[in-house]
Amino acid sequence: MGLPLSKYVWFDGKYVVTEKAQVPITTHAIHYGTSIFEGIRAYWNGKNLHIFRLDEHVKRFRKSGQFYDISLNFTDKEISDAIIGICKKNKIKKSCYIRPFYFVGDYGINLHVTKKAPTNVAIFTFPFGDLFNKNGITASVVSWRKFSDNSTPTQAKMGGNYLNSIIATQEAKRNGVDEAILLDQDGNVSEAPGENIFIVKEGQLITPSLSSSALEGITRDAILKIGKDLDIDVIERDFKRSELFMSEEIFLTGTAAEITPVISMDSKKIGTGKPGDITKKMMQEYLDIVMNKNIDYAHWLLSLIHISEPTRRTPISYAVFCVK
Ligand code: PMP
Repeated sequence: MGLPLSKYVWFDGKYVVTEKAQVPITTHAIHYGTSIFEGIRAYWNGKNLHIFRLDEHVKRFRKSGQFYDISLNFTDKEISDAIIGICKKNKIKKSCYIRPFYFVGDYGINLHVTKKAPTNVAIFTFPFGDLFNKNGITASVVSWRKFSDNSTPTQAKMGGNYLNSIIATQEAKRNGVDEAILLDQDGNVSEAPGENIFIVKEGQLITPSLSSSALEGITRDAILKIGKDLDIDVIERDFKRSELFMSEEIFLTGTAAEITPVISMDSKKIGTGKPGDITKKMMQEYLDIVMNKNIDYAHWLLSLIHISEPTRRTPISYAVFCVK
């Protein structure tokens, strides 16, 4: 499926038209999954474009590569500027997904990856709406387990790790549900292929601890903070599969999924079979925050203020505005 990519991508420090960003077939990452990526959302609220938690994404971007000594040869500031730049260059006036990634380049079949291995960096973007049905999705626990930190670092957001997500998704789809839930090696609930999981029990908001091999999601972190601010008990702890069925509500969190209610698990109805009250509250809070309607969280947004309407002579221009 071809993505409706914007005209320009950022590739190794330059803006180039998408078709011109090419790599050789000997690119290491194609063979061994040595690529690091982030998924970021920018929200268009009809006036301005708001990039959600840019700093946190850029920080995780660099950290992911460090597990493997893969070099990101640009500073955090340069990467942030490039992410902002790609939105400006493409004159984006729609909510979009931004995908920065870097990868081991032309390094032959060498498995001894060092800081000196050549890397390339690219950023593309495309318009993006809902990933899932926000009225609720079905899910089931799959037989594939989430890989553990004893195999490869679970906090490295890297291409190779996603084979686990892919095979879990395939099983879920064969089972006729929308999304997979993976258990960790000890049988604790870990996460979904590309989302963290939350359950609600007796008004408490519970999510698996990171020792369950779950990725430390930036949306997960946002929900933990929002929950605390709303005086909801938020708890990070391990729990088993059976607790899923004892939950009053379940929802998934992720940059792409945002807050997605799960209304059925392994064919069993969760709660009333409709998004629960806490889930709905979290969805509304999140939407208000990303659309810059909640001043208390404005520091999570980097806002590209649209300052002039494009005319035939004057292109769109933006002022970058970040509340710290
Ligand atoms: N877990 C996995 C495996 C993911 O790929 C993602 C998406 N990045 C998440 C959780 C959610 O993370 P975030 O909220 O940072 O997008």
